[in-house]
Amino acid sequence: MKTYQLFIDGAYVDPVGKEWFDSVDPYKGEVWARIPRATDKDVDLAVKAAARAFREGAWPALTASARGKLMRRLGDLVVQHAERLAEVEVRDNGKLYSEMLGQLKYHPEWWWYYGGLADKLEGAVVPIDKPDMFAFTRHEPVGVVACLTAWNSPLLFVAFKCAAALAAGCTVVVKPSEFASASTLEFAALTKEAGFPDGVFNVVAGYGQEAGNALVVHPDVAKVAFTGSDTTGAQIYATAARSMKRVSLELGGKSPNIVFDDCDMTAAVSGAVSGIFAATGQTCIAGSRLLVQNSIREQFVEKLLEVARSARIGDPMDAATNIGPVTTPAQYQKVLRYIDIARSEGARCVLGGQPASGEGIRGGQFVEPTVFVDVTNEMQIAREEVFGPVLSVIGFEDEAEAVRIANDTIYGLAAGVWTRDIGRAVRLSKALRAGTVWVNTYRAISYMMPFGGMKYSGLGRENGMESIREFLETKSVWISTSQDAPANPFVMR
Ligand code: NAD
Repeated sequence: MKTYQLFIDGAYVDPVGKEWFDSVDPYKGEVWARIPRATDKDVDLAVKAAARAFREGAWPALTASARGKLMRRLGDLVVQHAERLAEVEVRDNGKLYSEMLGQLKYHPEWWWYYGGLADKLEGAVVPIDKPDMFAFTRHEPVGVVACLTAWNSPLLFVAFKCAAALAAGCTVVVKPSEFASASTLEFAALTKEAGFPDGVFNVVAGYGQEAGNALVVHPDVAKVAFTGSDTTGAQIYATAARSMKRVSLELGGKSPNIVFDDCDMTAAVSGAVSGIFAATGQTCIAGSRLLVQNSIREQFVEKLLEVARSARIGDPMDAATNIGPVTTPAQYQKVLRYIDIARSEGARCVLGGQPASGEGIRGGQFVEPTVFVDVTNEMQIAREEVFGPVLSVIGFEDEAEAVRIANDTIYGLAAGVWTRDIGRAVRLSKALRAGTVWVNTYRAISYMMPFGGMKYSGLGRENGMESIREFLETKSVWISTSQDAPANPFVMR
């Protein structure tokens, strides 16, 4: 069994309190690693190291181009370690190896893209309205960034946050989820190997209420970049406000996947299935509300069930597996509780609806892919995030009703639209209140494309050019070019 250490100021160290907690492999149900439990003392050491590295030493002395080169080197190193890191993630969160490997193979792109962006953060000379002034803007890094991540895609979220933050010139302290810390702790070694100066990238594993909160209240943290639930996000937002920290929040969703009767049926079925059952439904962008036009609803559900029934449940390391275990015991209980709620609300279960059993099932945390029909958008099952393989099918008559139902949610992370009508696709891409709208596809993401939520799904955007702004302050510089005697000090110039 591996015992991990924190990564602070360029070195692996034991936590000050010398305490560790277990990481359980969700498939085998066995403890496979010991994770260091950081407390406020460790967080203080990490933040101080990051603050020092931000202010002095090699990092601020590097040109933006040199910083970019280091980042690109880090991307190259991830290529070499993708398989190993993906395996670590599977042991920690039980998601499919094929998915985690896909993420790890894509991960380097963030370092290459943002490494390339580091030296393109140009300010502007403003053609100012005062003849004796020269005025320009500079974009400066905000400072130390606390990156708090969720367990479902640990290193993908490190890329989402840290690549832009480091390109901006910030330094970071990452606090991975207590349920999936190992890959982030291992990744830290690669930053050292790539040549990052000590203190630029730090990892403090531990509990949210303890290590996470210590980061959010720490006076030397300038910005909190968070991925997790909306409940925690709101708490962090409120806490961070007391010390005026900048905050970006990537939160949950109850995303509508909308199928019109003019769609390509095969593609839409596939998109609906992957929308909810990929990652065992443990994804913020899950298309958990399937809105189907009434004219094709029965036929569509029939086809969807055919595909969903063929899903193979089992060992996440096995390439033939489609659905792995639910990551944590608490999450497993929550999913089953929502299935009960849906039944009690009058939704009709036409697939699954119970713990999965049989060959290839271990650890006891498997839920059958579950489909409810006769769901109305008022039901709890249609309003709250389950974060599991549970689909709610809701019927609609026409486009206007589809939009009304889709937007009738507190969330606004993503939406899918399946139609061959280009005009409708464009109309819906505007009408849907969601940070991402996919037309005739679902779950596409890229380092180039802004990602984030409206309403309770969050604040700010990650990925793409604009996300780097989340880690910058704009400074306005005024220089007087006047040769005249100083003007009247009591009159504004
Ligand atoms: P969570 O909110 O329980 O935890 C997220 C992180 O915050 C963890 O590192 C946790 O330790 C930490 N944390 C918890 N309480 C804290 C506190 N009081 N102060 C500081 N830190 C604290 O979420 P989770 O269960 O790990 O992840 C699942 C949720 O994340 C779902 O709601 C899902 O939709 C959401 N999510 C959103 C995105 C996105 O990009 N929008 C992506 C993945 C997951």
